[in-house]
Amino acid sequence: MPRRAVESVLSVLVAALAAWLARESEALRGLELWVAAIAAGLTILIINLRRAIGADDASNSVLPSRPGPGPVRASSTVSIVPLLSVQKVANFRNRKFQRFESGAEPPEIEPPPLQHSARIARSQTPDLRGNWVMVSLFVGCDGRPWSESEIAGRLDSLLHAGRWVAAEASRYRMPLALGVCDTYFAVENDSTERIEIGFAPEGDDMGPAEADQATRALILMSRGARQLGFRDATDMVEKIAARLPGSRSVWLLHIRRGGRSLAIPLDLTELQGVCLAVCYAREASFTEPVVKVPGPDPVTFVHELLHLFGATDKYGVPLSEFPPGAVTAYDVMRLDRTRLARLHVDPLTAAEIGWVSGMRGGH
Ligand SMILES: [Zn+2]
Repeated sequence: MPRRAVESVLSVLVAALAAWLARESEALRGLELWVAAIAAGLTILIINLRRAIGADDASNSVLPSRPGPGPVRASSTVSIVPLLSVQKVANFRNRKFQRFESGAEPPEIEPPPLQHSARIARSQTPDLRGNWVMVSLFVGCDGRPWSESEIAGRLDSLLHAGRWVAAEASRYRMPLALGVCDTYFAVENDSTERIEIGFAPEGDDMGPAEADQATRALILMSRGARQLGFRDATDMVEKIAARLPGSRSVWLLHIRRGGRSLAIPLDLTELQGVCLAVCYAREASFTEPVVKVPGPDPVTFVHELLHLFGATDKYGVPLSEFPPGAVTAYDVMRLDRTRLARLHVDPLTAAEIGWVSGMRGGH
């Protein structure tokens, strides 16, 4: 039944009941019309108040359902996706999220060095559609681990980023079920070796400095994986993927340092099947220690996430160099605006991540 009809029928019923009661009562006899009108008004008011509160709740919560196997719906959703059959401990700031507890003692063996030849087994960059889960590995640095509240804040921000991406996907009528894994991984990088970073070139391909940074990030991830009892990053990614049935996963490496965030998509990774967005605690041209971590930036999460699906940077180029209507100052890959609410996925970026066809190629 439509909402207005329910409202009308209910208020008429309540008004009739109130009028009948007024007629029966000594004190209200003669005021039946007034009583009925007030009762009807109050009923409508209560219905609307309940609806307003309900709508507010709905906008604050995420869908409890997890993206599962089978055809995705035409709408786009965000949910917290449970990681199955692992030991975990609830985050005390936000019990929706849990820290992964490694069961076994970490093996002492050093893993083999990264195989650059693994590049031969390059995979295609996937489209951002279907069921995807974002899994986070938090790496503490310089003797400072990520605190529980810093982690909870970042995961909440990731959910916010996910909601934004889902809303944009809906705008393009793209079926996308995006999830944030309920379980996160936390390690400390106790290595004294500095994670050197050169200037990363602007543009859409990885320069030498950025490629080097990518290699280091993969080494860091493998080191973290070993602390958690896995053989290396590939082993961790494969084993965790097996516990997220029905969804494909992307990883976010949260490094508790200042540095320049970057994405390592599947077609550029040196480790088979490992694609990840490296997000520093604070954006900086060079890697540097941070004492107090600034608030998380959902724009960085979205920007790096879209890189993993083939989106290219669009900053440093005049808008006039793009095809008309393809890119505006509001595109999230252009970063002219700092607030996510003011940004969009413009048509060229949408084409790159597989949301529309027929607009490949940019500047
Ligand atoms: Zn970028």
